[in-house]
Amino acid sequence: MPWLDLPAAPSFWLRDARVAAGFLAAPVPGAPIDTEGVVRLDLRISGGQIAELAPEGSAEDGVDLDGGQVWPGLIDAHVHLDKTQIWSRSANPDGTHAGARAASTADRTHWDEADIRGRFEFGLACAYAHGTVAMRTHIDSYWPQAQIGWRVFRALRDALAGRIELQASSICPLGQFAGLDGAALADEVANSGGVLGMSTTGIGDPDWPVIASLQDQLDRFFTLAEERDLALDLHIDETGDTRARMLHAVAATALRRNFRRPIQCGHCCALALQPAEFAAETIRLCAETGIAIVSLPMCNMYLQGRAPGQTPRWRGVTLAHEFAASGVPVSFASDNCRDPFYAYGDYDLIEVYREAVRIAHLDHPFGLWPRSVGATPARSPGFRASRHDPGRRHGRPDPVPRPVHDRIAGASAERPRGFAGRPGDRRGAARLSPARSPTGAIDGGSGRRF
Ligand SMILES: [Zn+2]
Repeated sequence: MPWLDLPAAPSFWLRDARVAAGFLAAPVPGAPIDTEGVVRLDLRISGGQIAELAPEGSAEDGVDLDGGQVWPGLIDAHVHLDKTQIWSRSANPDGTHAGARAASTADRTHWDEADIRGRFEFGLACAYAHGTVAMRTHIDSYWPQAQIGWRVFRALRDALAGRIELQASSICPLGQFAGLDGAALADEVANSGGVLGMSTTGIGDPDWPVIASLQDQLDRFFTLAEERDLALDLHIDETGDTRARMLHAVAATALRRNFRRPIQCGHCCALALQPAEFAAETIRLCAETGIAIVSLPMCNMYLQGRAPGQTPRWRGVTLAHEFAASGVPVSFASDNCRDPFYAYGDYDLIEVYREAVRIAHLDHPFGLWPRSVGATPARSPGFRASRHDPGRRHGRPDPVPRPVHDRIAGASAERPRGFAGRPGDRRGAARLSPARSPTGAIDGGSGRRF
């Protein structure tokens, strides 16, 4: 399929687009919502932004999308760009979380600045090719090696400003924040404009010792964030072991300390297996605290419930519907890509959304779930908003004249085709991308298309 040819003019119309109503800040008068939650619109693009919305048939000229869908610029709220694309040299031997941790730890001996930068930049190019306009990446942050990853992040964030809005969060085991190294790491995060993050993954695993001082470590972590006015982004309870109850502990700690900065919690898999009463209490605490949840459905399906010779019994995802029903924002994101934590992937958020729909039953109706890769992560981690209302940047025309059900079922190879308001950006993406994965990606790797 060819890319969409967009006019070079600074202002033009996209005619007869299908837009999920959930993307709109307000109803468009004269544009009814159909049975799939979609409206047909003409969109005027001016200076790279959506300047005007009108019912289909309003514009007298412009690019005819013939009912093709238009999505906003997509926002990937949880990725690992410093770890991406190491699969070819450090595969996960058994597909387990423990196997992933061991392989990644061993691979870090390769992580000099050139190695991280090449893979990081390639991941960004893949995401950009798929229509992503903002990402939050986690940076493996074992002090002092962490300084290399953070240096790469700062350089690429600044170099790509205006094309991809990039944020970063630290990730390392909670215990790493003890002592002077913890303070040095928190300083590095603060000086980089980052978000303070850690992982409790492994707590609750059968091979993980019970840590008596867990609450002390959690309070130490919060203190470091408060002293530097940092937001938090946490890998929490990424396990099927119900002894992992850190989400509850984090929410309770934030409430007790009256913590004011945003908190995003990723994974929260174990919550789906907790007794109903404890799960409800945890969700209530999260709602009261204002915690935002990000689910990583493809990685969870890959890692959770895996054991030699066994068919997985559960899907690994957190209680997305129950969180949403309680007013807790829920995003879906890529997480890992071509590394020991996930052997596949291409930073394709439409693929992530499609899989989330299937895995977490975000359908019948689709409702507001399309926001989970746009407006919701825009608000929760604090990116610029991503909606189709006038004044917002970046529409994503996808001129496939199909209803939503077919779109969710469609093959990703048929996308993407262009960025509204950014004619010529395909060439821009080419400049962003190395020719191929620096470690020789075998599949995925949209960046190499340019
Ligand atoms: Zn992650």
